Order: sequence, then C-alpha cells, then structure tokens
Amino acid sequence: MDKSLIVGLLQNVAILLAFTLIYDIVWESEKKFRSRANKVYAGLIIGAVGVLLMNTPWTLSPGLVFDTRTVLLVNAGLFFGPFATIIAAIVIGIYRFFMGGSGVWMGIATIITSASVGILWKMYRPSWRKRNYMVDLVIVSFLAHFCMFLSIFLVKGEAVRANTFQTMTLPILVIYPLFAILVGRLLINRMNNHKVKEELEVSEARYDSFVNRNSDMMFMKDENGKYIVVNDMFCKMAGKTREQLIGLTDLQVYDKSHSNRYIVTDNEVITTGDIVIFEELFNGKITETTKFPINLGKNKLGVGAIIRDVTVKHKKRELQEVLLYLSRLSLVDQELKIFIEKIHFHMKKVIKADNFYIALYDKEKDKYKFPYYVDEYDTVDDIENYSLHNSLTDFVRMTGKGMLINSQTEKEIAEQFPLESVGEYSPVWLGAPLMDSSLKEVIGVAAVQDYHDEEAYTEEDLMLFEIFANTIGIFIERITMLNRLKEAKESAEQGNRLKTAFLANMSHEIRTPLNGIIGFSEMLSEDIENREHREYAQIINTSAHRLLSTINDIMDIAKIESGQVSVIKENFDVLLTLRETYYFFKKQNLKVDLKLALPKNKSIDVLSDKIKIQQIITNLLNNAIKFTPEGFIEIGCIDEGETVQLYVKDTGIGISEEDKERIFERFAQVESNGRRVYGGTGLGLSIVKEYVGLLGGEMWLESEVGKGSQFSFRLKKSAN
Ligand code: ADP
Repeated sequence: MDKSLIVGLLQNVAILLAFTLIYDIVWESEKKFRSRANKVYAGLIIGAVGVLLMNTPWTLSPGLVFDTRTVLLVNAGLFFGPFATIIAAIVIGIYRFFMGGSGVWMGIATIITSASVGILWKMYRPSWRKRNYMVDLVIVSFLAHFCMFLSIFLVKGEAVRANTFQTMTLPILVIYPLFAILVGRLLINRMNNHKVKEELEVSEARYDSFVNRNSDMMFMKDENGKYIVVNDMFCKMAGKTREQLIGLTDLQVYDKSHSNRYIVTDNEVITTGDIVIFEELFNGKITETTKFPINLGKNKLGVGAIIRDVTVKHKKRELQEVLLYLSRLSLVDQELKIFIEKIHFHMKKVIKADNFYIALYDKEKDKYKFPYYVDEYDTVDDIENYSLHNSLTDFVRMTGKGMLINSQTEKEIAEQFPLESVGEYSPVWLGAPLMDSSLKEVIGVAAVQDYHDEEAYTEEDLMLFEIFANTIGIFIERITMLNRLKEAKESAEQGNRLKTAFLANMSHEIRTPLNGIIGFSEMLSEDIENREHREYAQIINTSAHRLLSTINDIMDIAKIESGQVSVIKENFDVLLTLRETYYFFKKQNLKVDLKLALPKNKSIDVLSDKIKIQQIITNLLNNAIKFTPEGFIEIGCIDEGETVQLYVKDTGIGISEEDKERIFERFAQVESNGRRVYGGTGLGLSIVKEYVGLLGGEMWLESEVGKGSQFSFRLKKSAN
C-alpha cells in the first residue's frame, strides 16, 4: 500500500478529530438553543470541515482524490441529524463538483450515500446509541463505505477504474470504516460526557435546593470533624459565612462549652453508628439537633446533622403549661407580692419580662402606687404616691385597653395625647389594664418593657400579657375584698366585746335586785295569811325566777357569741354530779315522777367541766319538766367502757321529725297553729348544744310525738 495514502488519511483523521470538538462547542453546549439557524450554522461548519478534508487529499491520479469526507458525513448523519447533514452534504457536493476530474461522479455519489446512510440510520434506529452502539457503528461504517466501494463504478475511464479498484478496495472496505468507527466512538464518548455533566448539574441543582431551600439547618463533617457541607440556614444561624466554616472543626468555630458538647455527640454517633438527638439553646433559639453517621466511602464515617428550630414549639408547650398553672393558681392565702412574684416567674417563660411592674391607681388621690416593680435601670423611690400624668401607664388606664407600644405607635399616640416619657427610655413597651371582676373599672396597669430589642413583643404577646394582667387584677380585687371583710369582722368583734361587757354589767345590776325580789316574795308567801295575797306573792316569786333564768340564758348566749366561754376541766365523778342534780330537782315536788338510772359502778370519773355538765342536765330537765304533763322523767347514765353516755328522757309531748333540727337553733320554739303554747326564750337547747360541743361531744335526740323525748350526749372517761 502506498505510504502517501496513509499519510493523507492521517492528515484527514487529524481534521476529523478537530471535528469532534465542533460537536462539543456548537452542538452539545448549545443544546438548549438548538434552533434552525443553529443547525444551518452546524451544517456550514461541517461543510467547511469537509472542504478542508478535500484539500488535504491523497491523489490516486489527477482528478481522482481520496479523502475521509465519507467518515465525516456518515457521522454527521448519525450525530447531527438530517438538517445539518444535508446542508453539509450540499456544501461538500458543490465543492466536489467544481473540482471536476475523472472521479467527480464517484466523489459526489460517495457524499450522497454516506450522508444518507448516517441520516437514515439515525432516523430508523433513533436509540442506537443507548445499547451496544459498537455493533451499530461497525455496520453503519461498513455500509457507508460499501456504497463508496460501489461508486468506484462511476469513475470515468476503464483503466483508471481498474486501477482504482485495485488500489482502493482494501482501504475503502477496511481502513475507512475503521476511521468512521473511531470518530463515532469519540463522538459517543463526548456525548456521554455531556450527559454525565448534565446529570451532575441536575443532581447538583436538586441537592442545592434540597439542602439550601430548607428551613432546617444542615451540615456534614468528615471523619476528622471538619465541616464539609453546610447549608445556608446553618450559616445564618451560626452567624458565619460558608468560608468561615468549611474545613474547620468545632473547636475552631465555637467556644469551649459548646464545642465540647458537639465533639462528644459526634463521637457518640461515630462509635455507636446510631442517631443522637439533643436540644440546646443556640444563639437565643431552642434547637433540636439530630446527628447521624454518614458513609464517606473508603471505610470512613463522618457525621451529618439536621438542626431544627423548635423555639415556637417549645413556646407553645410552655404556654400551655403556664396557662394551666394560671388556671390552677390558688387565690387563697397568698400575699400580693409573693403572688405577683410567682406570676412573674412563670410569665418570664413565655414573654420577655425582665422589666415588669404593677401600678395600682388610687382614684381619690389620682396617684399610683407600685406594689411590684422590677427594672434593669429604674427604681421607684416613693412606692406609695406616684403621679403618672401623661405617661403610657396612665394612657392605658384611661383607655382600659392593652397596648403594644413601639416608636411608631408612640408617635401616633403622641399626636392625640400629650405623652411624657417616665424613666429610662425603652424602645418597646407592653401594657395591660388591671380590671376589677365586673370588668368595668380599671384598678391599675401591668406593664413589661424591653430596653434592648424593639421586636421583643408581638401582638400575640400582648394577648398573653392581658391574660396575666386579668389574673393579677382578679387577685388584687380579691385581696382588697378580703381585707375589707377582715376589717369589718374586726370592728364587729370589737362591738361584740363591748356588748358583752355591757351585758355582764347589766346582768349584775338586774340580778341583785331580782334576788331581793325572789327572797322577799318567798318570805312573804310563807307569812301571808290571806290566801289570795299569798298567791300574789307566789306569782311574784315564780315570775322573778323565770326572769332570772331568762337573764342567765341571755348571758350564756352572749358569752358564747363573743367567745368568752372558757372550759375549766377537772377530774370528777359524773355519777355523783347526776345524783346531786337529781336530788336538787326531787326536792321541788314535781307533777311527774323523776327517776335516776345509774350503772352499778361506784363512781365514773371524767375529765370535763363539772359546772357545764350540771348546766346541761339542768337545762334538759327544765325542758322535760315543762313538756311532760304526765308519766315520768329519767336522768340516766350508761357505762360504755371508754366513754359514758348521759341522757334525760321523758314521756312528754315529743318532737316531730321536722322540728328535731330546728329546736337547737337560737330562739327556736315549736309552735302549734302559729301560737306559742309554752313559755321560754328558745335559747336553752342552743346553749346545751354549744356546751356539749365545747366539751368535745355531740348531742343527739330521739323523740316521737306524743310518746316522749330523749336527749343524749357522750363524755370521755378520764384515763387512769
Ligand atoms: P325554750 O324551752 O326556752 O322554749 P329551748 O331551746 O330549751 O327553748 O327549747 C326549744 C324548743 O324545743 C321548745 O320550745 C320545745 O318546743 C322543744 N323542746 C325542748 N325540749 C323538749 C322536750 N323535752 N319535749 C318536747 N319538746 C321539747
């Protein structure tokens, strides 16, 4: 084979290689703008390359030149599509036509056939590049050059044609197809490169939007704890740029306390291969970090993290807790200052409240007092008397509305209301009225303010603050009410003491002459002969007795009421006391039989107030005598072991169910048909009940109308 043929072919191949670059430059890179014009442009360039090829040919004989235009065109058809290829074929064809010579028709035929084979192959096997493209490349290349081989028949002149067959058959059927395959391979490679690049771009765009258009913060660290990926949110939160983070470790980025925690959790992730979740305060926000192991390849483990801002979630949870706290807050038995301190403590969890005060308004003085005042800068010296005219506090009190004041709203208010600033200026202020429970009157103002951050409060905070203010308002009103009640009670007690002293005095003044009346009327009734006059004296005597007993009852009640009854306890034999009382009454010639029912014991000792027990029994006996027209009355005692039960039983008129409770009330008497039938004050039983209570026992009553009654109570025996 002629050496110059190889040289010519190599020259051509160089040009063809340059051609593959065109693919890069005009075709793949401009994919998005692959317009008609672009295709024409590509066609013309390919045409130009063809012309170039034809100018570095191998000449077999004058007018018969060989170059690799077929390689160019078949690949143009395969990769650039019909439009550009046809344009290129036309350019190359015309050029060949004007070159003329014996090979002109063969030359034009090879142009048409190779371009057509490429175009048709691409049209009918559009996805040939996807699978086993080498097989396709081999077939197409061979087919195109087989056509070239056939076109040798078009060479003019018998001898020339024969020479051509002889010289060119082998190169055309072997070397040319090989070049075509080579160029095709190159183009496919380039194409795949482009595809990979594109895919990479797409995946990068996806990755970027996934990582950076995300409200969560993310980062990735390599096996040495150096940041290799950080997203925008993370940079923003950390207050650093990407450059300030990438390639650095936590030790270089954060202070020790933070970086230590990060390093510890990183190690935990890497050693356990597990997820680690922790919460922390990070630049004023509460964050929840989830760390997980990341396979970095080559047996290396790094750490990935997703950090979420959970401040709002936290705030909500805390808010619920605080509201629950408020709803359960006991308003009883608390001091105002301590109460507000507690509220303040909880309020701080949900509202910035480093500066918080309560101003209570005194209507009469038109002044404020500050029962609570916590402030970074200001103090109040005269806690009691503050005139706050033209202040925001005063404004809120007058309007009765909660307000969020910043420099903007302050200006607006200042246009209608002459505002004067009090104390250190703060850029934001939150005030809420303290209402009384009828929600009609403003009793004061609660306020918080922040000196450092104008954005410290939102409208939501205002609402929240009003809830706190309402709770405080209700509490303050309650306290005021309780204080008033206490005062009223004290003055009532004072009055009572005076009354008792008066009564005690009076009773002495009454009882002394009454005793005179009783004594002398008794003497008279014994001495007077005249029966009628004697009866008069006796009436005077019983009346005086009744009067005395009434006065005694009233005195007892007065003493009970004013809490002046004292119990004097001693050890005594209760059986003896009952006997004494029995004999005292037995002497009095009663209409009914009086019995005494005692247990067999010689004595029963109790630790109690002897006089009171005597009074109780006497009162019960007096009632029994009064309400028992016939039958008997019994004073009794039952030994119950630890305790002893005393009772007075009668066979009198009895007491109906509905009256049983009532008769122990003061001044209560059973009426029949709305009329009082028996004399008395209705105080006896209430005194009895009170005394039994004072002695630590309880009174009970069994009774049936028409059959009789039994009043009983129990005493503890003395321990010996
Ligand atoms: P007073 O006897 O001065 O009216 P009390 O408080 O001692 O006042 O008694 C209240 C009322 O209870 C009496 O008016 C009477 O109606 C009823 N009562 C008290 N003891 C008896 C009794 N032993 N039998 C029936 N009724 C009684």
